[in-house]
Amino acid sequence: MAEYRVGIIGGGIGGLGAAYELAKLGHHVELYERAPFLGGLASTFEVGGGRLERFYHHLFLSDTTMISLLKELGLGDRLIWRDSKVGMFTGGRIYDFSTPWDLLRFSPVSLVDRMRMGLVALYLQRVKRWQKFEHSTASAFMRKWAGKRNYEAVWEPLLKGKFTTYHDQVSMAWLWSKFATRVASRGKTLREKLGYIRGSWQVLIDALERRIRELGGQVLTSTAVTRILTEGGRVSGLAIQRADGMQEQRAFDIVIATIPSFALPKLVELPQEYVAKLQGVEYEGAIAAIWVLKHSLSHIYWLNITDPDIPFLLVLEQTNLVPPEEYGGKHLIYTANYVTRDDYRWPLSPEEIVRGYIPNLKKINPAFDASWIEATYVHREPAAQPIIKANHRERMPPTRTPVPGLWLAAMSQVYPEDRGTNYSLRLAVEVARQAVEMHQA
Ligand SMILES: Cc1cc2nc3c(=O)[nH]c(=O)nc-3n(C[C@H](O)[C@H](O)[C@H](O)COP(=O)(O)OP(=O)(O)OC[C@H]3O[C@@H](n4cnc5c(N)ncnc54)[C@H](O)[C@@H]3O)c2cc1C
Repeated sequence: MAEYRVGIIGGGIGGLGAAYELAKLGHHVELYERAPFLGGLASTFEVGGGRLERFYHHLFLSDTTMISLLKELGLGDRLIWRDSKVGMFTGGRIYDFSTPWDLLRFSPVSLVDRMRMGLVALYLQRVKRWQKFEHSTASAFMRKWAGKRNYEAVWEPLLKGKFTTYHDQVSMAWLWSKFATRVASRGKTLREKLGYIRGSWQVLIDALERRIRELGGQVLTSTAVTRILTEGGRVSGLAIQRADGMQEQRAFDIVIATIPSFALPKLVELPQEYVAKLQGVEYEGAIAAIWVLKHSLSHIYWLNITDPDIPFLLVLEQTNLVPPEEYGGKHLIYTANYVTRDDYRWPLSPEEIVRGYIPNLKKINPAFDASWIEATYVHREPAAQPIIKANHRERMPPTRTPVPGLWLAAMSQVYPEDRGTNYSLRLAVEVARQAVEMHQA
């Protein structure tokens, strides 16, 4: 196989995975990341003497691409699996939702409604042909089959929390995939198992960077791609700008962009029809506040919040999955939201966001007191979650762009599964292989 020069835009898990794959195949890769650090949405920061993801991360047993990569990189022993503890905070109290039996104890809806919900869940878990859900929205399906009361008590608040103003447009195929993933991650006891990389996703990010360099590739942070260059209608290289303002042009045979799909037209001229696809899939942002606490807030790892007067969707207690000893004995909690661009929190300072949340933590655990707080951090990302609407397959931009030599591997092309590092990796590796094979042909 001929050896190509490949430029990769973005140093998230997708970009790193594509670069590693191509370097292994003997191509010359150069990866550009505009942030001063690698990892993108899975990047980490230091807390309590350990590293933690800016946005909470875990793996499912079905994340086989990621599990294989970790083993290949000699990190298999870093992967830990724990029974997950899932719950729902509704009507001012926590309900456990860790096993199917917990549903029977979920008293906010009647026993008949609980049984109806259980039957719908059982049906969704057994269906393999998800394509039949493509044309429906999750809200219409759940309203019809789980019933109005279940919809209003459970599904509507969850969909609203995750998809804000888009909640009634989200594809049922997307919701089906959430059931499928969670069922595939259950052990024999019917308890869900969740995985974590001991030492954080940073261990994986560092190993990928090291291997790419060992194989002769280049990895540059604080370096933004400002233009994708073309010659005679096909890709010829990248214009890059370093943090110190230095600009340079680099020649490439192939370019793989792993950035949000709507951002691609800012870098290169593309036919209007393709631009419409790129911009047709909207993304929403995420805001995560991380709390370093002296004590545990609850026994739950993943606590969905359905009470509308609480300004966050989720409380995720990291130290109910990974023991506090990994973080100097501290208890770590995320409070998280998905948000649209006009959300009131974007202009707020981290202190203002945290201050507004404090009284709500007390609702979850009345013993909570501000004196428990040792430190807080706030992370925000405007392109955190593509909105997967009904008929997404027809809306999805193809990975092979109309510009020969230019390929796209973005979260909006992960379907029907919810976006995740496993799928970004799988997509980017597939795109990388295809890009060099097609170039040859
Ligand atoms: C709140 C939240 C929770 C999540 N939970 C999980 C989880 O539990 N498990 C899981 O597996 N996944 C989870 N994910 C999803 C996971 O983080 C993503 O699917 C994955 O990290 C996306 O990787 P990516 O490389 O495709 O994109 P990104 O991580 O978005 O990487 C793209 C990179 O491109 C860079 N970039 C953009 N423009 C340019 C440019 N012009 N020049 C150079 N660089 C550029 C960006 O800075 C960024 O680093 C979560 C995500 C969020 C937001």
